[in-house]
Amino acid sequence: MTTPAAPAGPGGPRRRRKPPRRVEVVSVSSVSARLVSVLVAGDGLDGFADAAPTSHLKVFLPADGQDEPNLPEFTPDGVVFAGDGPRPTVRTYTPRRYDPAAGTLELQFLLHGEGPASAWAQRAKPGDKLGVAGPGGRFSLEPAADNWWIAGDESAIPAIGTLLDALPATASAEVHVEVADADDEITLAGPGKTHVTWHHRQPGGYGQQLAAAARAAQVPDGARIWVACEAGAMRGIRRYFTRERGIPVSQLVTRGYWRAGEQNHPDHDYGED
Ligand SMILES: Cc1cc2nc3c(=O)[nH]c(=O)nc-3n(C[C@H](O)[C@H](O)[C@H](O)COP(=O)(O)OP(=O)(O)OC[C@H]3O[C@@H](n4cnc5c(N)ncnc54)[C@H](O)[C@@H]3O)c2cc1C
Repeated sequence: MTTPAAPAGPGGPRRRRKPPRRVEVVSVSSVSARLVSVLVAGDGLDGFADAAPTSHLKVFLPADGQDEPNLPEFTPDGVVFAGDGPRPTVRTYTPRRYDPAAGTLELQFLLHGEGPASAWAQRAKPGDKLGVAGPGGRFSLEPAADNWWIAGDESAIPAIGTLLDALPATASAEVHVEVADADDEITLAGPGKTHVTWHHRQPGGYGQQLAAAARAAQVPDGARIWVACEAGAMRGIRRYFTRERGIPVSQLVTRGYWRAGEQNHPDHDYGED
């Protein structure tokens, strides 16, 4: 039996989505105290070789009591699940690095302590089965730009890594990362003129250090700005840059990667509302 999971939306074409592939964990290691690197392998991952910087994927994780997730099919009529089994947990993550020689894709999970994806990553081990779909997401900034102001919290560290990897060697990048404490700091490699500042938040003050860094920022004319963090904090930073500094919206991308008190925040929150 098949079960349609998503009814047709009113009007307009549906987004064409790439179907999930089954993959298996091949290794797990620590990037920092709370950031876990999970390498996965499986068929059909070569599409991630061309993933744009800061793109995302969907992970499909087994429901409680399952060894592998019940994966849906993406049909012209929407998302369809075979059978009546429990639905997987679906969350959004960044394809940090695809290694074509090894056929492995690296994901980095923040152990933030509360959600099923964080809990899954905490106990992940080789042989664990999951699904991944993607890559997806638009990247509207020109990677060849000379000057960058980049900010994010721990959940954005993988995406910041993909962005720094994509910048030309001559670019200047000022990077601000807000973390809980020094145990979360890592080496972020980038172009020669990359300067990374680590900010330690007050407990619960998500995004406050990034907002303060934005207010103190020297942003050269024409610089590109990329910000990803808690959705409410992101909106404050976006408003500040566009309304108080008059920075054109075409020069900035802001993303809500999660929202305090909400499960599974949408992957397309650019704060443009
Ligand atoms: C485009 C995109 C790319 C992303 N890439 C990554 C990535 O590479 N690595 C990564 O770790 N995360 C990434 N995220 C964020 C990740 O999708 C969310 O943190 C997600 O909510 C985690 O799912 P969960 O099941 O652990 O928690 P959920 O079930 O979604 O939420 C449970 C509770 O935890 C809180 N919560 C969720 N995330 C955080 C957090 N970061 N800090 C504190 N509290 C939190 C929620 O507010 C909620 O109260 C990305 C998000 C987007 C939109």
